[in-house]
Amino acid sequence: MTDLWSSWIGGELRALDAAGLARRHLVAASTDGRTVRVSGRELLLAAGNGYLGLAHDPDVRDAAREALAACGTSALASRLVAGDHPLHHHLEQECADLVGMPCALVVGSGYLANLGLLQVLARDATVVSDQLNHASIVDGCRIAGPRAVRRYRHADADAATAELAAAAPSDRTLLVSESLFSVDGDLAPLAALCRAAVGGGALLVVDEAHALGVAGPTGRGGLELANRLGAADVVVGTFGKALGSYGAFVACSPELRALLVTRLRTGIYSTALPPAVLAAALAAVRKLRRTPELVQRLHERAEQLRGALQAAGYRLLGESWSPVVPLVVGDNEATLAAALRLREAGVLVGAMRPPTVPPGTARLRLSVSAAHSPEDVARIAEAVRRCVPQEHPR
Ligand SMILES: *Cc1c(COP(=O)(O)O)cnc(C)c1O
Repeated sequence: MTDLWSSWIGGELRALDAAGLARRHLVAASTDGRTVRVSGRELLLAAGNGYLGLAHDPDVRDAAREALAACGTSALASRLVAGDHPLHHHLEQECADLVGMPCALVVGSGYLANLGLLQVLARDATVVSDQLNHASIVDGCRIAGPRAVRRYRHADADAATAELAAAAPSDRTLLVSESLFSVDGDLAPLAALCRAAVGGGALLVVDEAHALGVAGPTGRGGLELANRLGAADVVVGTFGKALGSYGAFVACSPELRALLVTRLRTGIYSTALPPAVLAAALAAVRKLRRTPELVQRLHERAEQLRGALQAAGYRLLGESWSPVVPLVVGDNEATLAAALRLREAGVLVGAMRPPTVPPGTARLRLSVSAAHSPEDVARIAEAVRRCVPQEHPR
């Protein structure tokens, strides 16, 4: 490496450290979805996205094991070449049914789904996007070469409507929002966004990544909760969160699916998901359809955690049933220090700092799962009470 490059890399790292923004991997392994082993110690996991415990469900594991035995560890090629295992198509039908859409396309991950989808749709279009939308949405818009990206105030459907109205009538417009926001734990006003999209002549894209298996009486997502299943034009879902596996899907019309098969660069130029991963995702979706009680149990755990923290005086963002529980600390270093104290107390939580969250709003992100027992949740709440100072009295 030249001196120019090594001094540039060193300078970047020093600047990140000075701002409390350097990130480091934490080696962690879970055997049950409710705890993780970190440096030889068992910690309660309050930092995962496995909201339903499906990654360790016996039926899901069996399905993955059988596919592994039958098909090996790899798809061997991209889907368009030789990697289009039949499981893709079974999974696509289940996912389309789950979110009330005509069909779906399975893609390598949620990040790749949004990146590729927006790259296709947003080219020369006007995109109206919630200001807190996930990085994969932001990046997809960036690489698409849109006519314009207009960001509206978080979860404000009137602001979205105004941005749509400001677009030229000849523009193709796209309205895109997460459903359950991943670091605020709150829900987009989906019914109002559906109206805004129809009124403004926009294509509505809803990213249900954190809402599948979580929002709605049977876990079919934020659109189910808003009584608008099938009302969006495109629904993105991931298998990496509540569905306990890996990969993602884009649910849409047959015509858009056909266009994506040809144009979705993140699908074309990437190896297809391994059959065992597809089998796990398929088993997880089926389990969710058969066992809506899992969603109920998750909501009970979330309400228990939120109730305990509110009783202790913490001010919480997000919906009362949301398993994502943010505790805004503000300062980057103070957030890291609180996360470290919690780890010493036996609980692993996320420490979210910019650019994941806006500057000055660094936070702990707690999450619960249906895999947690009520005792686990009580221990998490007690550890927070001991380790996280209340900078925001009620
Ligand atoms: C996690 C997440 C993604 C990415 O999904 P992966 O399958 O983990 O790549 C996309 N969108 C949102 C809103 C997410 O929270």
